[in-house]
Amino acid sequence: MSTKHIVIIGGGIIGCTSAYYITHHPTFTSNNAVVTILEASSVAGGASGKAGGLVAKWAYPKELVDVTFAEHERLAREHNGKERWGFRYTGCGQWTGRGEDVVRDAGEMTSKTSLEKKEGLVSGKNTARRNTGLPDDLDWVKEDLTDAYEPMAGDGETAQVHPYQFTTSMCELAQEKGAKLVIGKASAINYSGSGASRSVSGVEYVNEAGSKEVIPASTVIVAAGPWTSTLLPSVPISGTRAHSITVRPTRPVSAYALFTEITLPRSSFRTSLGSPEIYARPNNEVYACSPGDGEPLPSSTKEVKVDQQVCEALFKQISAISSELRGEVTASQACYLPNVNSGPRGCPIVGEVDNAKDLIIAAGHTCWVSLSCTLRHCCGNL
Ligand SMILES: Cc1cc2nc3c(=O)[nH]c(=O)nc-3n(C[C@H](O)[C@H](O)[C@H](O)COP(=O)(O)OP(=O)(O)OC[C@H]3O[C@@H](n4cnc5c(N)ncnc54)[C@H](O)[C@@H]3O)c2cc1C
Repeated sequence: MSTKHIVIIGGGIIGCTSAYYITHHPTFTSNNAVVTILEASSVAGGASGKAGGLVAKWAYPKELVDVTFAEHERLAREHNGKERWGFRYTGCGQWTGRGEDVVRDAGEMTSKTSLEKKEGLVSGKNTARRNTGLPDDLDWVKEDLTDAYEPMAGDGETAQVHPYQFTTSMCELAQEKGAKLVIGKASAINYSGSGASRSVSGVEYVNEAGSKEVIPASTVIVAAGPWTSTLLPSVPISGTRAHSITVRPTRPVSAYALFTEITLPRSSFRTSLGSPEIYARPNNEVYACSPGDGEPLPSSTKEVKVDQQVCEALFKQISAISSELRGEVTASQACYLPNVNSGPRGCPIVGEVDNAKDLIIAAGHTCWVSLSCTLRHCCGNL
């Protein structure tokens, strides 16, 4: 049997879970299939390492969520995801209230693009208000600043992973089964044949030393996130920059993910409303992210510009509602959310493209990534 060469372009969550599922498929043997992950900078160096890591039954698109929530639970059981990538169930709600004066000024964003994560919620479901509704164990936001807390889903319907740990674990687990990781930036996909028999033959890339090389390929999966259209211009995917920070709280805090609407005092904030998402993580870390902005996509994850003023403003906003969140800032970062520019909201582009046999795209997962959707395509070809 001839050897199949499967090249996955992109070492984000989609590329790494693609490699995981292919190498863990019952029909996979590393003797007749070589799987290579080709990553331009570093595994999980983009959104897949800097996202919030929320996993929810109420996410969208529903067709993928119905499969992937249970799959996250299974992966965590099988590979000790609790320890390895911080898998756990979490409370989740919409917090509305006021911020208090904490520290003086930092720059704030002027143009904001919602990441639209809450769009998956069914209107009216689980949104009944009870006085302020603040749960007893959500004791790290100030009760006297709370106007309302609305739980966004029932028990067991929202979970979380540490996205960097999850993505790098998927890469390692694929490597344990024979996948190769190559650091290099894909510059072109080569083809052979024409018409109905046109198929991929290789991937050209620039290695870390700056030289051009080619990996032979019988299947190419393009999972380059917001950079996908730089390789496949006909694919309508773009990127939205979003900033985030991680904070070591002043004491361990309970497991909640909060979508906030904070009315900010004009005396010390440039904007009157802040809407950071705040996720407590198990490793004594709290993650917070801001809405997106219009900064153009740079050439790689390494070139992403971080506007420190936006990160400082984010810290100031979360500090304004919680003394516990006034701890040490452990990371100030930015990354690009992959968006599909047309078609149904929140639907990634998955499947064969560009009239080439065995050229598969898996990108555009917006603010809800759904593991890899390429399993059927790739394993069917083994
Ligand atoms: C602020 C923020 C918060 C988020 N929170 C959540 C959340 O809580 N839950 C959730 O499910 N989703 C969340 N998301 C969405 C999620 O992070 C993304 O949908 C997901 O990470 C996209 O993964 P990806 O592998 O497609 O892209 P990426 O993570 O961008 O990975 C693409 C990879 O391809 C590489 N690459 C690009 N071009 C080339 C090339 N030419 N050659 C080789 N490699 C290349 C890049 O270096 C990169 O490593 C969030 C996103 C943002 C921005």
